[in-house]
Amino acid sequence: MRISVDRPRCEGLGMCESMAPDHFEVVEDDAGNETVDILVPEPDPADRDLVHAAVQSCPVLALTLTG
Ligand code: SF4
Repeated sequence: MRISVDRPRCEGLGMCESMAPDHFEVVEDDAGNETVDILVPEPDPADRDLVHAAVQSCPVLALTLTG
């Protein structure tokens, strides 16, 4: 299971972070724009439901869960 982000799409809205703060963190990129840092790109299968819910929560569909 792997989380990936379509970075140009991410607007740093933070829904993913609020759902799963151990897996996602909103940070500033080099240009000072808010974006997401995937803290655990390959999450534990035990966290699948939580991570899936966080991915689904992204309002701009920037996150994908594969595997
Ligand atoms: S991935 Fe989506 S929910 Fe997460 S910070 Fe970016 S825009 Fe917000």
